[in-house]
Amino acid sequence: MKTIGLLGGMSWESTVTYYQFLNRMARERLGGLHSARCLIWSCDFAEIAALQAAGDWDKAIEAMVAAARQVERGGADCLLICTNTMHKMAKDVQEAIDIPLLHIADATAPAIRDAGCSHPLLLATAYTMEQDFYKGHLEREHGISVKVPDEDDRIEIHRIIYEELCQGEIWADSKQTYLDIVEKEIMAGADGVIFGCTEIGLLVSRDDFAVPAFDTTALHAKAALDFALSA
Ligand code: GLU
Repeated sequence: MKTIGLLGGMSWESTVTYYQFLNRMARERLGGLHSARCLIWSCDFAEIAALQAAGDWDKAIEAMVAAARQVERGGADCLLICTNTMHKMAKDVQEAIDIPLLHIADATAPAIRDAGCSHPLLLATAYTMEQDFYKGHLEREHGISVKVPDEDDRIEIHRIIYEELCQGEIWADSKQTYLDIVEKEIMAGADGVIFGCTEIGLLVSRDDFAVPAFDTTALHAKAALDFALSA
């Protein structure tokens, strides 16, 4: 089995989910006492979130590249950036290391295509919903054009991610807010919903929706285990 390198801690609430998914899937596939070989580098998310909020993406790139190199030196055979948002610097990170970076959008796109969705709604941080790095990647590399919620809804989705989910707070009111936003967007033509933030699966589940839902954390972890078990 190959070793999976995880750039985690963004936030650690979702890194826990990655760790559980990887180990549960390894047990399901291999049985007995098997678990996933992995190497986790976990940051202090307050530092990263401050760089994001200040728009200091150059420093954020430096931090991600330094961490990725440490994971590579530690012996990982591949790298996962365990957050959708920090795929903003996926290209810089890949260029700085020799092991493959498994991109979270590449792990998600086949599931969207297989479900036949052409206009899925993207729920994510404001950075991911508003900038081009993620939507553009899905469009250019996979021909998937996503819808995003309107501005007021984006602000609330983003707030709930940083003020609640990344701090381990899961509230019924916030879940209802997400459900209402998705419902409204389905009426406006969305035919799927992407959990484009690795903490969203802590708040809502795929069964909550009348359209296919794509949990990027689960799909990313699955792609990593496929890689780890490949010849
Ligand atoms: N984990 C989140 C994501 O998938 C948000 C935290 C971050 O900004 O990295 O985007």
